[in-house]
Amino acid sequence: MKVESQTALPLSQMERMGHEQIVFCQDPYTGLKAIIGVHNTVLGPALGGTRMWSYADESAALTDVLRLSRGMTYKAAISGLNLGGGKAVIIGDARTLKSEALMRRFGAFVDSLDGKYITAEDVGMTTKDMEYIHMETDHVVGIPETLGGGGDPSPVTAYGVYMGMKASAKKAYGSDDLSNKKVLVQGAGNVGGYLVDYLREEGAKVMIADIFEDKLKAVTDNHPTVQVVDPNNIEDIDMDIYAPCALGATLNDNTIPKLKCQIVAGAANNQLAKEDVHGKMLMDRGIVYAPDFLINAGGLINCYSELEGYNRDRAMQQSQGIYDTTMTVLNTSSEKSMPSQLIATQMAEDRINKMAEIHRSL
Ligand code: NAD
Repeated sequence: MKVESQTALPLSQMERMGHEQIVFCQDPYTGLKAIIGVHNTVLGPALGGTRMWSYADESAALTDVLRLSRGMTYKAAISGLNLGGGKAVIIGDARTLKSEALMRRFGAFVDSLDGKYITAEDVGMTTKDMEYIHMETDHVVGIPETLGGGGDPSPVTAYGVYMGMKASAKKAYGSDDLSNKKVLVQGAGNVGGYLVDYLREEGAKVMIADIFEDKLKAVTDNHPTVQVVDPNNIEDIDMDIYAPCALGATLNDNTIPKLKCQIVAGAANNQLAKEDVHGKMLMDRGIVYAPDFLINAGGLINCYSELEGYNRDRAMQQSQGIYDTTMTVLNTSSEKSMPSQLIATQMAEDRINKMAEIHRSL
């Protein structure tokens, strides 16, 4: 993953992006270097995972935490959750730097924020790491079911994506029936795999692309009729619905003009390479785009449920609401001739501003 470096000083960067607090953590004994980003706590505590990554330099790590924590604010707000947005990064190689002591030291830093930031698992982290963090703080979610948590959030995320896809079909075709629709799932990973289950159950004609044979095999063993396609030529494939469930930035200057689909609805974060440019480009091509941070919120909804006493049925039920929210976003988008991503962002900001106002006047 390429993460751009930035040269602005931290405080000006925070001011520009609207962050409340950034915490720099370092510990010479364990080698820990981490940054915790708290973007906005108007709706509730800032929740977001911890990512461990070998960043090119410290400013690249700062840029990543600022961008990711802001994204969490919007995801929570549009999902109707009483959560703010936060994220943390641990700087270093996840294969060589990890130790119990480092994770527990990080957990102690999370604890020092007294619940303003709640952490969870993200790229480069494992369930074991989360267990170590949990030894030092209660402000952690996404812990295993054996420890009273919600376990793997991917099935809930996939269900939310499926709901967002059905709402998009209703918008594009006048019916949310996906049977016989040609759907390409890019990425046969955790979310992609569960999404294929839902799609096949409804009778969609599913194609799947991945760069690893074992991932493809895990899906086709369960669903022999699923067609495997070349991951390098997604734009050349004739399909009704494109579901990006692997990487970000797959919707860009090169791909959008060639895409042969009527709908894009998938789980990957940051699908639009440039939000302000590529959302409009999709709209101008008449492609219905279900905003990523709206329809992939099932994982966050699952984490939120842990805070209230975990209940998978409730998390699934709440994720079903993604259908109605997607419908509202897509209808408003066509009424106002504005890109759906922009509408979703405005709805999230509107909720935050309204809640800030009522709390001010209480
Ligand atoms: P994963 O790592 O299990 O799956 C990703 C899959 O994509 C892997 O099988 C990988 O081999 C494949 N892949 C990588 N590069 C590819 C390429 N160029 N072409 C085709 N396939 C490629 O991840 P996941 O948990 O399934 O998450 C998928 C996406 O959804 C990620 O972008 C993630 O950030 C996002 N997301 C996941 C969750 C969740 O609950 N897991 C929640 C919200 C968002």
